[in-house]
Amino acid sequence: MQYRVNPKNNEEISALGFGCMRFHKDEREVERQIRYAIEQGVNYFDTAYMYGNSEAILGRILSKDGLREKVKIATKMPYYMVRKNQDFNRFFNTELERLQTDYIDYYLMHMVTDLKSWRGLCDLGIREWVAEKKSSGRIRNIGFSFHGVQSEFFALLDDYDWDFCMIQFNYLDEYVQAGKAGLEYAGSKGIPVIVMEPLRGGTLVQKLPKEALDLLNHAPVKRSPADWGLRWVLNHPQVLCVLSGMGTRQMVEENIATASDAYPDKLTEEELTLYTGVRDAIRAATKVSCTGCGYCMPCPKDVNIPMCFSSLNDTMIKGKIMSLYWYILMTAEHNASLCVQCGKCESHCPQAIPIREKMKQVQRELEGFPYKPMRFILERVLNKV
Ligand code: SF4
Ligand code: SF4
Repeated sequence: MQYRVNPKNNEEISALGFGCMRFHKDEREVERQIRYAIEQGVNYFDTAYMYGNSEAILGRILSKDGLREKVKIATKMPYYMVRKNQDFNRFFNTELERLQTDYIDYYLMHMVTDLKSWRGLCDLGIREWVAEKKSSGRIRNIGFSFHGVQSEFFALLDDYDWDFCMIQFNYLDEYVQAGKAGLEYAGSKGIPVIVMEPLRGGTLVQKLPKEALDLLNHAPVKRSPADWGLRWVLNHPQVLCVLSGMGTRQMVEENIATASDAYPDKLTEEELTLYTGVRDAIRAATKVSCTGCGYCMPCPKDVNIPMCFSSLNDTMIKGKIMSLYWYILMTAEHNASLCVQCGKCESHCPQAIPIREKMKQVQRELEGFPYKPMRFILERVLNKV
């Protein structure tokens, strides 16, 4: 495993971090994967209060055989649910309990979008609360995960003595959100950066258009799309660790192999040019830049927003009929035509997607002919099955 040194505390962190947002459904399999990852040197595990039962599962696994002491746990406070000072302890203590630990190595304010939100927390006493937790050893490093525009990222970095931060960064989003400039600014301040969404929620793996895949497949060196994606992120020296959500043992093995070899500035000019071509090919095939994160959900009208957008993008990759087939199967009672244009979802979208406008596009492109006859037939066929 490649380790990178945290410039703030000289701690060695594995270049690959285990993203714990979605685990395999069998907890015994999760345990096998986590044990294997630790054996191979992965020492950073990222979860959050809001990731369902992820903290509890991670806590159960790490409480065995001294595993807790071998790793750093990162978890996150759902700061957007904090209403009063006492909520800080309420969320934090629940997380300690779930994780079966009495300290958190890397604690983040989850999904901060702007300076105003952070200042709101300051008004509730977050600075004093963090200072107390750090002095008692309950929190070792304090940071924030960010989804917002670049200017707000700069403002946040300047407003507080952060130990680290976390941003979305991948070869498709080089200039989106904090972006490369944000990464470099953090680096210039000596603030280590953890990277999330290195494969853009799988878009850079399973959903690559044919033209992009062809470019990768014809590269002089043979690598999987996931390998290319992680390697691009790790090429940046400011990146301390890249998180990957790994649902199978094979993914764990492949990602470990990549992280063990992808050192900063290792990519050649030729390889970097290849990414430009792949990026262009993907953009040409995408209608909406949804990552599928689900932060816009739930919709009061039960529209499955990420699925609607995924289907819209699929029309460029799989063609209209196949996309429509999946659109009907996945969104029958949750389709775009249920949208009443209330706009409640838009402020939660880290990609700043004009969801209302795009919903109209989904309706236009997917719910015109042959939506109704196809849905009629599919429902009959499925009912028979
Ligand atoms: S604008 Fe449409 S998709 Fe968004 S929350 Fe309102 S009804 Fe749901
Ligand atoms: S529309 Fe935005 S918030 Fe909703 S899933 Fe897509 S990227 Fe995430």
